[in-house]
Amino acid sequence: MITFEEAFRIVTEKHFRTGKETVALAEACGRALAVPVRSDMDMPPWDKSAVDGYACRHEELGRELTVIETVAAGVMPVKEVVPGSCSRIMTGAAVPAGADYVFMLEDSEELPGGNVRFTGRPGNTNIAKAGEDIMKEQTVLRPGRYIRPQDIAVMAAVGVTEVTVSIRPKVGVISTGNELVEPDRVPAGAQIRNSNSLQLMAQVARAGAIGKYYGIARDDEASITHLLKRAIDENDVVLISGGVSFGDFDLVPGVMRSLGLIIHFDQVAMQPGKPFTFCTGDRKAVFGLPGNPVSTFVQFEVMVRAFLNRMTGVTETAPVLQMILAADYSRKSAGRLSWIPCTVTPAGEAMPLEYHGSAHISALIGAWGMITIPRGQSWIQKGETVSVRQI
Ligand code: AMP
Ligand code: MG
Repeated sequence: MITFEEAFRIVTEKHFRTGKETVALAEACGRALAVPVRSDMDMPPWDKSAVDGYACRHEELGRELTVIETVAAGVMPVKEVVPGSCSRIMTGAAVPAGADYVFMLEDSEELPGGNVRFTGRPGNTNIAKAGEDIMKEQTVLRPGRYIRPQDIAVMAAVGVTEVTVSIRPKVGVISTGNELVEPDRVPAGAQIRNSNSLQLMAQVARAGAIGKYYGIARDDEASITHLLKRAIDENDVVLISGGVSFGDFDLVPGVMRSLGLIIHFDQVAMQPGKPFTFCTGDRKAVFGLPGNPVSTFVQFEVMVRAFLNRMTGVTETAPVLQMILAADYSRKSAGRLSWIPCTVTPAGEAMPLEYHGSAHISALIGAWGMITIPRGQSWIQKGETVSVRQI
């Protein structure tokens, strides 16, 4: 059995990169950006008014001013603001030459004869300077991130309409177990519903990869071989759940070997998820995940996701927060690095949830995150700081 850190090192070291493709900006959200994005212009392109008001000279704020022009957004001003004058200006419009201050309509008084006066207290100029947000040729986004809606706005603003992104990894999903029936069936006798497959498919989709489901393999070598071989042929990565521990019907590692895959480890000192087989072939990776749904969930989040991220060159990692523990925590054995589900209290502390172990999938419904319990630590006192990974 190896440590989580060692397993993580092996998994991430064995990654291989997908290629690149170009997609329309409208299709780019959630994709892994593969090239730097530069701006083709200053933002704002000119000194811009941040409010509706009057553009004037700062030193003339105390004077009665003649309005010489109205500048709407989308039209360039034509008149220069000279001493004794101002221009009425709308939010987003270019500030006329000669003006270095915009006072808000709310801080103004219209006087008879079309003049105005500032009635507020001087403060902020209400002008966004040209290039203050983004400069021409500036790199606005670097590769190695998932594109978010706000990134799309920045790219739209700097004229990027097509984006080079990493090709999404293809991930095959298989469940194993004679006891499993698909969720649309009513289990009879010793059967249970297959919850891992759809969970994994959802996790794959959330990680920006393309999942393909291959069904349930029976607990026999032929059935596992048949599905695993097909899934390996058609995908970059295969996630197969169940059948990787040491019971009589845990046949997955043997099949992996018979298919010529190299097994790098088969047990990790983590909880949940001790039985966990990782193997690779030529630009292929197969994760043999434990059957219990919480183990599958956690293993995907902490291991598989890191692998998929590296495949697309994404360097960002899930945020891990340092939080105050809201209640005492203890466990019987401390030999493994453990993750336990928690919520956040109104005071912003991490509260462990009632959790019965790796089959207790409903405990995750209320979970905001997972608290990491380090190896060797069997109890943590309320008030101590713990690492929490949001899930
Ligand atoms: P295994 O790793 O195959 O020994 O399975 C461990 C436990 O997880 C057993 O109780 C299985 O019934 C359960 N299990 C295995 N696969 C699934 C699945 N796809 N969905 C829900 N539970 C599963
Ligand atoms: Mg099984």
